[in-house]
Amino acid sequence: MRQLKREAVLVEFDDISKVNPEELLRGVGSDHAIARNAPLRHFQIDPRNGDRVVYSEARARRPHDTKKVENEILPLRYAQGQNDSISGGCVVCEGKTTSVVDITPTSEGFTFINKNLFPVTYPFSEGTDGEGPFSSTGQLAIGTHFLQWPSNLHDKDLDNMSLEDTFIVLKRLCILERNILHFAGSAMPLGHVHADGNHYGYIGVIKNVGRLVGGSLVHGHHQIVHTNVKPRKILDDQRFKEQHGHGFSQYLLAHNPKEYHVKEYQGGVVLLVPYFMRRPLDAMILFRDGRGTLQRAPTKDYLHHLSDEELYSLGEALRDVMSALKILMPRMGRELAYNWVIHEGDIGGMYVEILPWTQEMGGYEQLGMYLCQGRPESTVNYYRELIR
Ligand SMILES: [Zn+2]
Repeated sequence: MRQLKREAVLVEFDDISKVNPEELLRGVGSDHAIARNAPLRHFQIDPRNGDRVVYSEARARRPHDTKKVENEILPLRYAQGQNDSISGGCVVCEGKTTSVVDITPTSEGFTFINKNLFPVTYPFSEGTDGEGPFSSTGQLAIGTHFLQWPSNLHDKDLDNMSLEDTFIVLKRLCILERNILHFAGSAMPLGHVHADGNHYGYIGVIKNVGRLVGGSLVHGHHQIVHTNVKPRKILDDQRFKEQHGHGFSQYLLAHNPKEYHVKEYQGGVVLLVPYFMRRPLDAMILFRDGRGTLQRAPTKDYLHHLSDEELYSLGEALRDVMSALKILMPRMGRELAYNWVIHEGDIGGMYVEILPWTQEMGGYEQLGMYLCQGRPESTVNYYRELIR
């Protein structure tokens, strides 16, 4: 079985809960391989809708093992700057990664978090020279970018791990998230004052599976970006909350037809298909958060706010939907490819969006009009057939 051996791991920190975020930042800033692949210093904002754009030509040089071999024309460039050719190998299993900032045993091996060698945001310091016209229209983008690997075993991911191991993985993610969001000493803006404490900067936790949706490595992983660049969808969520007086997740729990609920888990965790489904197999995971009809503050706005019961159920829901997609997408004649993204922030309740790549983006979609080749009813039935 392909796997990353414990002795091949370069451990910088073994327990992220004990790491001072300042040290963590210093570790990222002093890594020369990461510095070589740093993105541009400035980000831009589309003045029409607030979309954020960050620029990194280095990311085009990432090693890809999800690309078909015949399409692979460039030699792969690894951490230490060596070249290698594609040999069906996994750069992670081969230990060609950055140093690890958290490593935790699981029943079958270990789960770990490391620094992304090709970061979307970088801990730039203020006041250094700009990059031509970019600096006059753009704003300084700062941040850190981590990768979490649920398992050192190549073929293991949240869809086929034990729920106990999945819980350990999600718990480590919560600890990293809490540690960096609650750190007041960074250059991050105060993003959210919450009963749980002040939150600095914004967090983006995502998973890309499959080459068609940006997944470059087959070995299962999650990405965590902590930055001053507030993603536009989070701005949308925030605006929704301001306009409605409660968050989107509470709105959807109240207004989505009950027939579109796929499954309800312990602790009020709900897997459903939204009535405005844009693509076949779109789904969401929402948290009732003990709320009835009345708003009960404060809300669970981040992954690290979830109770152990909710976190365990989230793992179960992710397992269900991810393992179902492995069957449903090939059945539709589609290559397995999906993203899930966590909406977190000052949004009146966090939620997870599952976005399978079941249809290409056409011109009408680019105008904001989605032509969906499926009905929510069918998607619910497909999921229910596989998820009990
Ligand atoms: Zn691997």
